[in-house]
Amino acid sequence: MATNENVDSGLVEADINRIHKEKFYESLERLSIERVENELLNPEKKKRKTNTFIKLDEYNELLRTIEQAKAKTGTKSKSEYNILRNYDVVLIGETKKVIKKRESENDNIRFLVPNEHLVDTIYRIHEQVGHKSRDVMLPACKKNHINLTVEMINSFNNTCQQCVLNKKRNKTTGLVVKPINFKYSILF
Ligand SMILES: [Zn+2]
Repeated sequence: MATNENVDSGLVEADINRIHKEKFYESLERLSIERVENELLNPEKKKRKTNTFIKLDEYNELLRTIEQAKAKTGTKSKSEYNILRNYDVVLIGETKKVIKKRESENDNIRFLVPNEHLVDTIYRIHEQVGHKSRDVMLPACKKNHINLTVEMINSFNNTCQQCVLNKKRNKTTGLVVKPINFKYSILF
């Protein structure tokens, strides 16, 4: 089949990407509101959760807190102890990043992604796996990130124009899981 279904939309690829990102960002905002509502209804559940949605300024504050707790020589407070049990800070290039605390140096680095970078991060992973389904996206997202969820991936894939077109073209495409190596070369 040689027809190009992108052409009839009259949009260049950049526009399609921009619209997708905007749509996805809107759905992220809805997810974040739903989560806050659920947490208000179920406060016990919140206590056990790590941050899923974290604004950039909260992220930077968390980063400072982790560094201060790490540098502290005296007895750490309970909250400092808890933070250090969950998180660490690493230097990637010239930028400090909050990561999941690792048991050993061999464990994958898993980044905490602030809200402002969620769209670009998921977008990049989605392109790296070649626009595959949720079942491929989820392990790819979890491999190097803490707070990318099934709900985020679903709303991303549902709004990706290329995925929608691919589904129309071939409903029986098999899944191919490719290994991904982007441990140190990435922003988040
Ligand atoms: Zn896609």
